[in-house]
Amino acid sequence: MKVLLVEDDRALSDALCEALGEAGLLMERAENGGEADFLVRTEAYDAVILDLGLPDGDGSRWLADWREDGIELPVLVLTARTRWADKAAGFSAGADDYVTKPFETAEVLFRLRALVRRTHGHAHPVLRIGELAFDTHSGSVTLAGRPISLTAQESRLLAYLAHAAPRVVSRSELAEHVYDRDHEPDSNVIDVQVSRLRRKLGAARIETLRGQGYRLVDTDGAP
Ligand code: CA
Repeated sequence: MKVLLVEDDRALSDALCEALGEAGLLMERAENGGEADFLVRTEAYDAVILDLGLPDGDGSRWLADWREDGIELPVLVLTARTRWADKAAGFSAGADDYVTKPFETAEVLFRLRALVRRTHGHAHPVLRIGELAFDTHSGSVTLAGRPISLTAQESRLLAYLAHAAPRVVSRSELAEHVYDRDHEPDSNVIDVQVSRLRRKLGAARIETLRGQGYRLVDTDGAP
């Protein structure tokens, strides 16, 4: 999951990036609305964490512009303000959820995961593709009830495929969502990592569609 954090408070931004990074999220950041606006329009993110009090204008103004232009990615608003009117402004601009400062970083993480899951049309926190189960809350993976150990990168790759399933995901889409923009790999690297995942999960579980990409499939006989 790749997330853009828009926050001008450097200490808060550092702390949040560290905590969410440790939880396996790929974090990129912007310190003002202009920078965020450029990134949201040019990069692929799974969600945005948006502070409302930014040096170049209220975060809700930037958000309203994105929604106006059809940018649909989930946005979690951060605000130091507890006044109802500010939350209302965030929601009317198109926010999906909010957290009031000060907050527990775990709460931000839990809300982000739920938002991303919902965006992909999943209500249950555990995504199941046949006997393969990916717990979006804990990040744990099991195959027929047995725990499977994955590296952070393998876990991000599987998480993206599991959220998207049964949709086919192209290599370029994977590269954008699973690697940060300074380290986007060539397609060989993705193929190698998919091969490693196949060794752990069973080769047939990740189908390659020539010229299109990959998808997770149910190989366990369910109709
Ligand atoms: Ca601020």
